[in-house]
This record gives sequence, C-alpha cells and structure tokens, in this order.
Amino acid sequence: MTLLQPQPRGIPVPRPSVHSEKYWEGSRQHQLLYQRCAACGHIGLRAFTVCARCLATSPVWERSTGAGALYSWTVVWRPPDPSFKVPYAPAVVRLDEGVWMLSAVIGCEPGELHDGMRLAVQFHAISEEITLPYFAPPGR
Ligand SMILES: [Zn+2]
Repeated sequence: MTLLQPQPRGIPVPRPSVHSEKYWEGSRQHQLLYQRCAACGHIGLRAFTVCARCLATSPVWERSTGAGALYSWTVVWRPPDPSFKVPYAPAVVRLDEGVWMLSAVIGCEPGELHDGMRLAVQFHAISEEITLPYFAPPGR
C-alpha cells in the first residue's frame, strides 16, 4: 500500500506576492480563494489585477467550496528536489465553481486515481507562512 500523502516541511515553498498574499492568507485559514472579474465574471487561474477577458481592473475574491473533480494527473517517483517525499501526484483539479487548479492528490493510492474522481480540498501547513491546498477523496 502506497498512500499519497502531503509533503513534509522542508520542501521549497511558494513566495507570496502583493497580488497573491490574500490567497495564501486564505489557505492559512483553510479557505480556498479565487478571483472573479466583477465586470464580466471571468475567473482567473492566478491572482490578477487586470481581467484577461475584458481588461477591467476590478477583481473580487471569492471562496470556493473546495469540491471538484480530477481532470489530469501524474505520479512522480523521481522528484526534482530530494526534499520531496515520493510518490506524489501533481494534478489538475476542476473545482465546481469552474476554476482549474494545479494541486496534488492525497489520501488514496496512485492506482485509485481516475478521470472525474470526486475530490475535496484539505489544507496542510508546510511552513509558518505557507499552507498548501491538497485534494483528497471526500471523507478521507
Ligand atoms: Zn472581466
């Protein structure tokens, strides 16, 4: 049995910018946030200040339920940095709000991963400042 698990502390961590700090603050509070353009409704994959669709400068933060489905994934056995614990499964998750998100799946075995698999967000602290959102089968 090879259960996919969150990474241990010590891996390279993201560096929040002035634009993404709100997202990381939400993660620390176990809230998955994303931005939506207040003018046209476009949802940004990353924190943005100018809408890629209508060029409005009025993005608002919204909270995701954290529920979604697995769209694409891979299982890594040879990590790019020795601090990563293997195996891990980087994945593209489509949140129910329509946000596409790059994360990683935990709480199941690599062989269980399948297209459309229902997932729910889970938060795991990786440092004092950074808490990472992972996705696991609901209830695990
Ligand atoms: Zn817009």
